[in-house]
Parts: sequence; C-alpha cells; structure tokens
Amino acid sequence: MFNDLQGKRVLITGSTAGIGLAAAKAFIRSGAKVGINGSRNESCQKAKAELAALGGDVEFFIADVSKSEQCEKLVNDFVERFGGMDVLINNAGGLGGRRGLEAIDDEFYDHVMNLNARSAMMVTKFAIPHLRAAAKASGKTTSVISSGSIAGREGGGLGASLYASSKAWLHNMHRNWVKEFTKDNIRFNVVAPGSIDTAFHSDKSQELIEKISSTIPMGRFGTSEEVAPTYLFLASHACSGYITGQIIDVNGGQMAP
Ligand code: NAD
Repeated sequence: MFNDLQGKRVLITGSTAGIGLAAAKAFIRSGAKVGINGSRNESCQKAKAELAALGGDVEFFIADVSKSEQCEKLVNDFVERFGGMDVLINNAGGLGGRRGLEAIDDEFYDHVMNLNARSAMMVTKFAIPHLRAAAKASGKTTSVISSGSIAGREGGGLGASLYASSKAWLHNMHRNWVKEFTKDNIRFNVVAPGSIDTAFHSDKSQELIEKISSTIPMGRFGTSEEVAPTYLFLASHACSGYITGQIIDVNGGQMAP
C-alpha cells in the first residue's frame, strides 16, 4: 500500500509491545528497515522472538529514552547501523502511575514528564541532523511522528493530569517544530490514539473497560493493528507529503475534536 517506504530507515521508540510493535511489524512488511527500542532487555528479547518470522532488516536497541544521554546514544547507534534516518517515531510513553494533584511531588512530576515529554523532545533533537540530511539527499520529505493521546485533547482520567498534559505538550511541540524545520523538508505529525487494548490499560478492571467501551461509538477498545497504518500513512511522502503539523485521531469516534 505504501510503496515508497521500501528501504526507508525507521526508528520507533517503545516498540517492543503494543502500538509500537504493531507499527514495527507493518513497516517491516512494507520493506522498511526498522530499529526496535525498549528500555529492558527482556522486552527486547520477547519482541525479537515475535519479529523473527517476518525477516527484514531489523535491529534492536536497548535504551531508556526518559534519559537524555540514552536518547543521544540510541540515535547514534541507529544511524551507525543503518547509515542515516528517514523516519522517527516517538512512541515510548505511558501513564507512569495515577496521582491526584495533592499527591504530586517533584519526583512524580519528573517521572511522568521525562517518560512522555523529555524523551520525545530529546530523541527528536538528536535525530534532526540525520532527518535533514536524508531529506536533502532524497529530495523528499522525512518525517517525525509522535504518539500523542486523546488525553492530550480532553484532559485525561482521574489521576492522569500529568500524563494528559505531557501529551498536550507534545502535540504543541510538534506545531512549533513545523515552524522551525519545514525549511529542511521535515514533517511533524501526531497520532492520537483513543482507548487501545494494550498493557497501558492493565490497571483497569473488566467492569471499567466495559464502562469505557460503552462511551465509544464503536462500542469497544481499538487494537494496536488498527492504529499502526496511520504511522505508515504519515511516514510515506507519497501519501502525506503535504501533511504536517496535524494530529490524527484514531479513536473509534470516542472524541471528535
Ligand atoms: P505499551 O505499554 O503496550 O508499550 C509501551 C512501549 O514503550 C513498550 O515497548 C515499552 O517497552 C516501551 N517503553 C516504556 N518506557 C520506555 C522507556 N523509558 N524507554 C524506552 N522504551 C520504553 O503501551 P501502548 O499502549 O502501546 O502505548 C504506546 C504509546 O501510545 C504511548 O506513548 C502511550 O502513551 C500512547 N497511547 C496509548 C493509548 C492506549 O490506549 N493504549 C492511548 C493513547 C496514547
């Protein structure tokens, strides 16, 4: 479907499970060269076993992207392995726990913001020179795509104020980066999932999941495989070369901003 992704060098942070892993599989099937990332060796080994059958040019990079120095190393290791970068997907992230305002302290603030905000900013910062060079060499746009959230649009659930705000922060960073880097032929878009059936929701009871499902016009959570193609669409110059600065909602009608 996305023919021009053949041979493209794609780094996906947080791609050992859930949405990132589904996106990785879809990029591999499209002939892209894919860098898989997770912060823990065990999760990388699990993903390795799952991806083995697909073949393709795939490498695994263990790096905790909530730490700036590991973001720099991740980008350097990826570029050394693949010779450059055409697409960056900032997908690593998570709730980081739930706390009401009065229970938030500096440590919790840093934990959630480092995981969702600093991570995407720093990986993007270190990737920019490589994305710029690849765009110049190919004469086509290169692409940064980040995983935002429906929470970044509507404020998030109880105890998730920091998570929701970190995603709104990320949505807005993209709008700013468009102003700074469009001259370099780099595009910036966000995929904002609604409620998607992954480990992200493992703290919820079946009863709560059914309650949330009843508020979704499609009546159910989405799957990671239903989110993945949107990343491919936004990575493909042929499909979306004139789309930048946008937030694409993939949420079964849960919210229509
Ligand atoms: P998941 O928990 O299934 O996967 C998260 C991935 O990120 C895993 O591969 C994990 O190893 C990796 N990761 C976590 N911390 C990391 C770190 N510090 N460094 C490197 N990798 C790290 O979650 P998911 O549901 O697939 O979520 C993916 C993204 O989508 C996240 O940014 C999440 O906030 C966002 N999102 C998810 C939903 C949802 O309903 N599932 C909704 C909106 C947004």
